[in-house]
Amino acid sequence: MTHQVPMLINGEMVQSQSTHWIPVTNPATQDVIAQVPCATPAEVDQAVSVAKAAFQTWKEVPVSERARLMLRYQALLKEHHDELATILSSETGKTFEDAKGDVWRGIEVVEHACNIASLSMGETVENVARKVDCYSYTQPLGVCVGITPFNFPAMIPLWMFPMAIACGNTFVLKPSEQDPLTPMRLAELFQEAGAPAGLLQVIHGTKDVVNQLLVHPDTPAISFVGSVAVGEHIYKTGTDHMKRVQAFAGAKNHMVIMPDAQKSHVINNLVGASVGAAGQRCMAISVAVFVGESRQWIPELRDALAKVRPGAWNDPEAGYGPLINPQAKQRVLDFIQEGKDAGAECLLDGSVCQVEGFPNGNWVGPTFFTQVTRDMSIYREEIFGPVLIALEVDTLEEAIALINENPYGNGTSIFTASGAAARKYQHEIQVGQVGINVPVPVPLPFFSFTGWRKSFYGDQHAYGKQAVRFYTETKTVTARWFEDDIASGPNMTIQLK
Ligand code: NAD
Repeated sequence: MTHQVPMLINGEMVQSQSTHWIPVTNPATQDVIAQVPCATPAEVDQAVSVAKAAFQTWKEVPVSERARLMLRYQALLKEHHDELATILSSETGKTFEDAKGDVWRGIEVVEHACNIASLSMGETVENVARKVDCYSYTQPLGVCVGITPFNFPAMIPLWMFPMAIACGNTFVLKPSEQDPLTPMRLAELFQEAGAPAGLLQVIHGTKDVVNQLLVHPDTPAISFVGSVAVGEHIYKTGTDHMKRVQAFAGAKNHMVIMPDAQKSHVINNLVGASVGAAGQRCMAISVAVFVGESRQWIPELRDALAKVRPGAWNDPEAGYGPLINPQAKQRVLDFIQEGKDAGAECLLDGSVCQVEGFPNGNWVGPTFFTQVTRDMSIYREEIFGPVLIALEVDTLEEAIALINENPYGNGTSIFTASGAAARKYQHEIQVGQVGINVPVPVPLPFFSFTGWRKSFYGDQHAYGKQAVRFYTETKTVTARWFEDDIASGPNMTIQLK
């Protein structure tokens, strides 16, 4: 019988009583590798109430003990790095090395969570009035919820629950139903690291489960990563129910190529940043903006893209793996067709793509369009596939205006030898994460992941200091200790000094 993915509730791996199960497939073969349940409403309630009860104990656990749990977890994740990457490859199709990167980027967040004591330090000011001191603490919120996408099944759950739990909260994770095996292994290792029962719950399902968590009276904070349409729904519904919400959404990331950049750097970096992971990265570069004479490099870029071929996870020569499912592949093929129909020039067409030995994989080859105009759907929409489009402008100012008009603001980069151009770009661009000669500028966890505009709804971003602000409430204390017991009469006005 196919493996039935359990849920983690109260420290136990339990089987759902659901009658609705979804197949988890290997995208290179379509083999069904597991069945994942859509948790019943009673199971969702149970997960939240267990987390709520565990919070009463966990919030009193000293910060150094919480940090030690994260230290043990970090060590276990490193020990199981290859095993996690193997599981991750089997359900996402990512190449093994790329899968290792997915896990590693998550481990780095756990390392960051080990610093929770320094990260939680509040502020103090002595003598805010005579003999009166003022200081602030951070205190946890309660049961925090995480809803995660398919494309980073290790990194993105690890953006969330380690930081939330290190802050003193408990957590309910609802990972993507498309690749739940990696998050389940992460959860098992968390238990093995010594996490008390009830700290982390993992439940499965789709929109009904998410919607129940979104309106639940005992879930004060919601972290979401996924597509724009769902992100907007999550943000609106969560905030309508008076919760704090951080919702990371889709993207259309541009790379600006100045004519003074070094051609080989541009081409090598652009190839990996655009079609790596089959373009299924929210920080993938999907638009190359050639400024002035740099447009002459387009034929060489096309040839470099043509050399990349997708393949199975354990093929060391494969540049990237398949799309996550046949619908995702069809969606990308539809965009390619729309681009052609709209008059863009398809210099490299990956629509028909076969990988030897894997006739059923969701393969799409590297695809490259020029002669693209801004009204075309291939420019306006997030394709989330190995499709790069090129636009040409004459000046840096035009490139900046173009990008600032695009509604998304997740990541961008500029390749140039000019400090002045780079400085102007970093200052004027309306995008939250900027790379200078760095194609995919994902910040390390001591910073925060700071998408802007349509790529993010909320105030406080993932990891870094902002995660601590998101997962805690600030309490400010104003304190006076009387040195004598002489009463001076009632105090009827605001004191000025
Ligand atoms: P998705 O929006 O389809 O799913 C994300 C999560 O939401 C899943 O857990 C899913 O079960 C749940 N969900 C799906 N439909 C829902 C609905 N109608 N109501 C409530 N919940 C629902 O996203 P995906 O396809 O798994 O992931 C790809 C998307 O995620 C891309 O758009 C990508 O850009 C984005 N992404 C963004 C970031 C970022 O940091 N900005 C990072 C990774 C991925």
